[in-house]
Amino acid sequence: MILSGAESLRRIAVVGRGTAGSIAAASVTRLHPDRDHELHHIYDSRIPVIGVGEGSWPSLVQELRRLTQLSHESIQQRLKGTRKYGVSFEGWGRRNRHFTHFFTPQQVSYAYHLSADFLADLLHESTRARHIDAKVLDIKRVEGGAQVEFEGRAPERYDLVFDARGFPRELSSDRHIDISFIPTNTAVIRRCPPIMREQGSGPVLQHTYTRAVARPHGWIFVIPLTVHTSYGYIFNRNLSGLDEVEADFDAFLDRDGVPEFEARAVIPFPNFVHRHMYDGAVARVGNAAAFMEPLEATAIVSAQLQIGMILHMRLNRSVKNLERDAPVVNRFLVSNMLCYGLFVGWHYSCGSGYDSEFWRYARHEAWSSHRRAADPGVTGCGALDKFDDMIDLLKRPVIDKADWHRMCAVPLTSYAQMAQGLGC
Ligand SMILES: Cc1cc2nc3c(=O)[nH]c(=O)nc-3n(C[C@H](O)[C@H](O)[C@H](O)COP(=O)(O)OP(=O)(O)OC[C@H]3O[C@@H](n4cnc5c(N)ncnc54)[C@H](O)[C@@H]3O)c2cc1C
Repeated sequence: MILSGAESLRRIAVVGRGTAGSIAAASVTRLHPDRDHELHHIYDSRIPVIGVGEGSWPSLVQELRRLTQLSHESIQQRLKGTRKYGVSFEGWGRRNRHFTHFFTPQQVSYAYHLSADFLADLLHESTRARHIDAKVLDIKRVEGGAQVEFEGRAPERYDLVFDARGFPRELSSDRHIDISFIPTNTAVIRRCPPIMREQGSGPVLQHTYTRAVARPHGWIFVIPLTVHTSYGYIFNRNLSGLDEVEADFDAFLDRDGVPEFEARAVIPFPNFVHRHMYDGAVARVGNAAAFMEPLEATAIVSAQLQIGMILHMRLNRSVKNLERDAPVVNRFLVSNMLCYGLFVGWHYSCGSGYDSEFWRYARHEAWSSHRRAADPGVTGCGALDKFDDMIDLLKRPVIDKADWHRMCAVPLTSYAQMAQGLGC
C-alpha cells in the first residue's frame, strides 16, 4: 500500500529551539492534519540560541497569525514589536544620500521589528511536542527516515528531522557554498533605551524602518522595539580591529544622542549556503541551512520558506514521489538562498560615502568574486542567471508588464528601489 504524505509522517523531530526550530515545531503542530502524530522538540539547554534576529519580512505577519491564531495586535504587543515598512539606507552607494527600500505595496505592507526571545516564547505556546533536553551528536539518514544520536540516551528514529542547530562549526567546499562576496563577518551588538513606546493599551501604529547606516568599517543597524532599541555594527574582523570598531560605534551613538548602552555580544558569522538542505528525511533550516549578514533581514524569511516548502511537500505529496521531489526542493531552496546572497552582496557594489579600507575591499575585491562563487558549475543551480536577468531588466528603457512580478528571492520592485538609491 502506498502511504499518503501525512500518513508517512508519523514521527517528527525538530532539533534546536532558536527562531528556526521554534517556527518548525509550531508549523508541524499547526499543519499536520492528524493530531496523533508524534513531535519531539530536542535542544541542548547548555547551548544558547543566537538571540538576535529582530528584523523580518511581511510574510511573517500572516504566518504568525496562522501559527498562533492570535490577533495581529496582540502578536505585535507580545513581540514588543513595531511595524517595519522597509529599510532606510544612510550614506550607501555612489550618491551618498539617504533612501528607503520599502516593502511593496509601499506604506501598506509591513513586517515586524521583534524581540527574538519573545518570538520563541510565543511559538512555544502554539507547539504540542515532547521536549527533550539533550545534546545531539549526529543526525543520519537511514532506510525510510533519519536517526538522531544523542549524548547519554538511546538513538531515536524519525520519518523527518528538522536540523535547526544553528551555524555549522566549520565550512567545507563539498557541503557549503562560500558566499564571501559578502564582505562582512562579525557583529557587535548593543542595546539602548527604547525610542518607540506603546501609548495606552494598543500596539505602536507608527511606521518604522530599520536604519542601515554606512560607517568607515561597515555599517550599523538600528532596530526600534518597545523594550529597547537594538544597535549592531557589522564589519570584517580581517580588516578592522574590534577596538577601532567599538570607538566608531561610540562616536555614532554619541552623535545620535544615545545616552547609554548595554554591550550584548560580539558575534562572528559565516556567509554560506548549504548544498544539501533537504534529502527527503533530514531538513536543515535556519542558520544551519544558510546565512548571510543581516543587511536585508533575510534569515527568518528564509527559515519560513524552508520549513513551509518542506512540510507542504511531505504532507501533501504521496510518499512514492519523495525520492524525486527531494532534489527538486533542495535545488529550489539552494537557488533561493543564493539569490538572497547575491541581492545582499550587490548592495556593496557601488560603495558608500567612505573611501576606507573596508569599502575599497567590499567593492573591488569581495563583490568582484561573486561570479566565480555563484557560477552554476560550482553551485548546481541557476541563481546567477536569475540575478543577471534582474539587473538586465533594470537597464531596459521600458519594463514589460509581464515582468513586473518577476522575483530573484525578492521582487523586482526591491531591485529597482536599491538600484535607484545606490546609483548603480
Ligand atoms: C548580527 C546578527 C543580526 C541578525 N539579524 C537578523 C534580522 O534582523 N532578521 C533575521 O531574520 N535574522 C537575523 N539574524 C539571523 C538570526 O540569527 C536568525 O534569524 C535566527 O536566530 C535563526 O537562528 P537558528 O534558530 O537557526 O539558530 P540558533 O538561534 O543558533 O539556535 C540553535 C539551537 O540549536 C540548539 N543546538 C545546537 N547544537 C545542538 C546540539 N548539538 N544538540 C542539541 N541542540 C543543539 C541550541 O540549543 C539552540 O536551541 C541575525 C544574525 C546575526 C548574527
